[in-house]
Amino acid sequence: MSERTFSIIKPDAVRKGYTAAILAEIEKAGFKIVGLKKISISKVQAEGFYAVHSARPFFDSLTTFMSSGSIVPLVLEKDNAIADLRKLMGATNPANAEEGTIRKKFAGSIEENAIHGSDAPETAAFEIGYFFAGYELA
Ligand code: ATP
Ligand code: MG
Repeated sequence: MSERTFSIIKPDAVRKGYTAAILAEIEKAGFKIVGLKKISISKVQAEGFYAVHSARPFFDSLTTFMSSGSIVPLVLEKDNAIADLRKLMGATNPANAEEGTIRKKFAGSIEENAIHGSDAPETAAFEIGYFFAGYELA
């Protein structure tokens, strides 16, 4: 069944000029781009997005990184979008990511790993609503 997921092209990938190449991988994999914008967020806004990770040791560093430059939030649609995007992204640590995945091709480290993807329907709904208003996705 057609499903929506949420993604972010992270500041490292935008800085390195990989935005279009990553979007091409996403479209090639059959995702429809329903929402797309290029913005930057404050540290407080990054903390709100990653609130589930607030107890993790890397929380401060992660939210500093995510507010360090432009990001490209995306809403993507296809059958099985949430699981299929996670597969296309590859493992969190690019050193462990499979050949052909976005993180294998474009990520530099476990933190600066090029792309975010929602991990479940509930997180996708929260994350889409955090970055996009309904009228932007009509
Ligand atoms: P994302 O949620 O961004 O799609 P993920 O689900 O693969 O990535 P999570 O465990 O949810 O990984 O971690 C969220 C993000 O925090 C990672 O994408 C990465 O940027 C950062 N991160 C995760 N583990 C570490 C770590 N050990 N050290 C530094 N940063 C980390
Ligand atoms: Mg995650």
